[in-house]
Amino acid sequence: MTTTIMMDIESPATKRIALVAHDNMKDEMLEWAKDHELELSRHTLVGTGTTGRLITEHTGLTVERLRSGPLGGDQQLGARIAEGLIDVLMFFWDPLEPQPHDPDIKALLRIAAVWNIPVACNRASADFIISSPLISQVYQRRVPEYL
Ligand code: PGA
Repeated sequence: MTTTIMMDIESPATKRIALVAHDNMKDEMLEWAKDHELELSRHTLVGTGTTGRLITEHTGLTVERLRSGPLGGDQQLGARIAEGLIDVLMFFWDPLEPQPHDPDIKALLRIAAVWNIPVACNRASADFIISSPLISQVYQRRVPEYL
């Protein structure tokens, strides 16, 4: 049996929240963002290209835009998670349609699990996470430390 050493990484009270929605899920993400606009405005938002643009255009929220998901946006988000720069991932992925960038989607979900980031894959989960008292508190995430 191997022993894994664990360490804590601090998620700040002002969270860095990543927003991604596949095409069939974008309306739902937009509605959700409008429903939670006030809470979201207290945090730092970053999104894949089209998701970020839609939220910026249709709400009063500011979203930093990365590449579109199929063009590398998911991978950019994964890299930011590995660098400790993302605290929460709201990822409304489409369970009913194949996606051309399926490997990138798997990689993003995997790296979020590795780094113990809260992930919402649908609106109900996103409602629960955004309503949690922890969203506005400092939180210590426990992650494996490979020496
Ligand atoms: P998009 O990317 O926001 O640029 O559409 C989302 C995705 O398909 O991963």
